[in-house]
Amino acid sequence: MTNAGSPAPNDERLIVVSNRLPLVISESSAGEWHLERGSGGLVTAIEPVLKDTSGVWIGWPGLGPEGLARAEGFLETKSDELGYRVRGVGLTKDERDAFYLGFANQVIWPLFHDFPAQCNFDPAFWAAYRQVNEKFAEVVADEAREGDFIWSHDYHLMSLAQELRKRGVESQIGFFLHIPFPPRDLFLKLPWRQDVMEALLHYDLIGFQTDRDRTNFINCFVSLRPGTEVRGSGRVMELEFEGHTLRVGVFPISIDVDEFSGPARSPEVSERVARLWAEFPGRKMILGVDRLDYSKGIPHKLEGYRLALARYPELQSRVSLVQLVVPSREDIPEYDQMKREIERLVGQISGEFTRPGWVPIHYQYGRWDRNELIAHYRAAAVALVTPLKDGMNLVAKEFCSASLEGNGVLILSEHAGATAQLQEDAILVNPYDVEGVAEAIYRACTMPDDERKGRMQRMRQKIRKEDIYWWVRSFRQAAAGESPEEGLPLDVYLPSRI
Ligand code: UDP
Repeated sequence: MTNAGSPAPNDERLIVVSNRLPLVISESSAGEWHLERGSGGLVTAIEPVLKDTSGVWIGWPGLGPEGLARAEGFLETKSDELGYRVRGVGLTKDERDAFYLGFANQVIWPLFHDFPAQCNFDPAFWAAYRQVNEKFAEVVADEAREGDFIWSHDYHLMSLAQELRKRGVESQIGFFLHIPFPPRDLFLKLPWRQDVMEALLHYDLIGFQTDRDRTNFINCFVSLRPGTEVRGSGRVMELEFEGHTLRVGVFPISIDVDEFSGPARSPEVSERVARLWAEFPGRKMILGVDRLDYSKGIPHKLEGYRLALARYPELQSRVSLVQLVVPSREDIPEYDQMKREIERLVGQISGEFTRPGWVPIHYQYGRWDRNELIAHYRAAAVALVTPLKDGMNLVAKEFCSASLEGNGVLILSEHAGATAQLQEDAILVNPYDVEGVAEAIYRACTMPDDERKGRMQRMRQKIRKEDIYWWVRSFRQAAAGESPEEGLPLDVYLPSRI
């Protein structure tokens, strides 16, 4: 069931603001404009709400200010086709470099993912971040009308509400942080910690992926704003400071389950799954799908796999790791170094263990099309999802949703947001603990069939209960001051449970 048509908490118009629009516009050498639509659960779940409320999506369409000015008419026409309006924010190359590659991805991303050593606290980045948030705010303020609900997304736009308030916008403004929120001692390293907290205070509702992220936020907030009153418990809490009330909620993001389970059943994917199984005769496929990023802990995972093969020789010839690494942020030099490190390790493991008729690791750097990805999810016996830190990790949920045979085992990092929901049935690992990862691989590969099935069935049910439609509804309900629809219990992960 898709819940696209379910009633809005009220009929306020929705304005979604994100760094990127869910589409990319480009111009051919002949001067013709082309539009490529984005996909993914978030877009699928938000689009119907935008259509129902005559809403608007505002973001960067991949163009500079001049290109955007020339593409205005094209965007208008496409808005009619999409069924909701899209408005672009044009950014110059310098703005992209300092705001996106700089502040967002060399300050906030590493700091919030527990990698302070990777941070480049260049003051010019902060200045650019503020300037670009102002630029977004100009467009949003021009669009906003009384009674709208403005929903801003992610760490690129933390200052948006503050800029909107300066421009006299009085609508309800919500913010969802897709990445983790760091513990207090990490956040306090940020030279602009007071400014960022001050900016966030202008939102009416801030949503986090997990209770742990929200707790971190509250601890930081209270440290920097002594005298704050913290009220309530459960999914939505309140912080009261100097007459302003900020609501803080927990809304774990998810997927459209049918977008994975549906195609997984299709003849095309079923045929590909059969071929994949034939390619691994008598062997279990262990699957890794990660964007190239230090937060994903790919080298640690490879070390864990190497140790599993060395420590449990019976796994040799009986398992193969298929590891897809998806290109990302290729403009940042550290990412290229990371790629070389991964490829060095893959080479070492292959050199150490390969024997006639068996390759221990199949490494690919690139992207798979949707059906190829879903076929791998369904064919895999084990998914190895071991980020060092992750806001949620959708790959874990997608794997479960496509695991139609219901006997896949999920090995999941305790530092992924998805752990809060899946901790009872995934095999949890501390990704820094190479021996623990090796042991988990052995356990997953030797787990009795009925245990695999029981665990997978329960995970699939949980993912279906809190799917992406639930996420959109519950956030909007909370923003409208209603009690959000019931979900799973808010479960905090405790390492003592392993
Ligand atoms: N993905 C993709 N193409 C690929 C492999 C993966 O689009 O070739 C998608 C995958 O379906 C998932 C996303 O990339 O939705 C990764 O999301 P996740 O939350 O796991 O990590 P992120 O990359 O957002 O940090």
